[in-house]
Amino acid sequence: MDKMLAVVFKGEGNAVFEERPVPRLERPDDVLVAVEAAGICGTDVHILEVPPGHPARPGAILGHEYTGRVVEVGQTVTTLQPGDRVIVAPSIPCGICRYCRLGRPNKCEGGTALGIYQDGGFARYSRAPERALFKIAPDLPADEAVYGELLSCVMGGTGRVRIQPGESAAILGAGPVGLSFLLFFKAAGARPIIVTDTDAFRRQYAHKLGADLVLNPLDDPVQERVREATGLGADVVVDAVGSLFPHSIELVAYGGKVVLFGMNEQAVGAIRQNDITFKDISIFGTHLGVNTFPLVIRALERGVLKPSVMTTHRLPLDRFFDGLAAIKARQAVKVVLVP
Ligand SMILES: [Zn+2]
Ligand SMILES: [Zn+2]
Repeated sequence: MDKMLAVVFKGEGNAVFEERPVPRLERPDDVLVAVEAAGICGTDVHILEVPPGHPARPGAILGHEYTGRVVEVGQTVTTLQPGDRVIVAPSIPCGICRYCRLGRPNKCEGGTALGIYQDGGFARYSRAPERALFKIAPDLPADEAVYGELLSCVMGGTGRVRIQPGESAAILGAGPVGLSFLLFFKAAGARPIIVTDTDAFRRQYAHKLGADLVLNPLDDPVQERVREATGLGADVVVDAVGSLFPHSIELVAYGGKVVLFGMNEQAVGAIRQNDITFKDISIFGTHLGVNTFPLVIRALERGVLKPSVMTTHRLPLDRFFDGLAAIKARQAVKVVLVP
C-alpha cells in the first residue's frame, strides 16, 4: 500500500512526522483529495503548547487550512469528480443538534473538525466528506485558495459590522487574522484603516497590505493618534488579539462598533460598563463563519481578495517544524506547506 509522510499530533505539545497509509474511501460520501497547499494556523501553535491552548485528538494528522485536487469520489458523491479543485471547510457540523437546527452550525454540539479531531491536511492526501468540500475554479492559484478557511472565519466578523465606504477602522493585531480584516475593509472602501501591533515584522506587513497608519502600542499614544487620524474615533474597532476589549472601547467613536475576534481564555480586562452605554457602542462576538465559504470563494476567484500577500514562507511539508519555529519566533505571518 502507498505510504505518505504526515504531521501527527501525539498529545501534550508533541507532533512528529509519521509514515501513514494513503487514506482509502470508507463511506459512500467520502472524497480523496490530493493536498496542494496547507497553511499553519495559530490554532496549530496553540494545539502544540504545554498546557495546550486548544484541544486536539492525539493520533490525528494536523492541518485544517488546506486546498487540493479531487482524486477519487465515493458512490453517492454528486457535486465533485476526480480532477476538481476544492477548498476544505474543516469544521464538520453534525446537522441534527439543537444549534445546527437553529442555523448555527458554528456552535454545533456534536460535529468534528479535520486537522484537529480527524486527520487533516499536513500530508500528501486527505479524506474528507463531500459536504466539507467546496469546488473552486481550475485557475484559482492554490496560494490564494489555501486562505479560504481563514477568510471564511474573518467574514463571520466582517459580516457583523458591514463597514461602509468612508468609515474608519482600527485593527488591533497584525497577524493573519488582523491582516485579513485589513484586506476586507480595504476592499469595502473603509478609510483610514489603522493597524496596531507590538511586533515590527508584522507592522511591516500591515504597511505592505495598505494600512493608512500603522502604530506600535509600546511606543505610540494609540488613542491620540487614532483620534487625530479619524476625527471622532474609529467607526469600527477589531480586537484580533483577544485581550484588548478595554482598549477597543477607548478607540471606538460614539455610535461605533467593536468586533471581538481574537480568543484568549485568560483575558479579564476591566470595562466601565457606562462607557458602552454612554458612547452608544455595539459589541459583536464572532466565532467561525456561518455559510461564508461560497462568498469567500467568489471573492478569491474574482480577485477581490488576494490574501497570498500574507505568505511569508512557502515550504515543503517536511519543513513543518521550521515553519512552526518561524511563527513562534514572530518571524512569519503565514506559513504555507506544499506536500
Ligand atoms: Zn485555523
Ligand atoms: Zn450539530
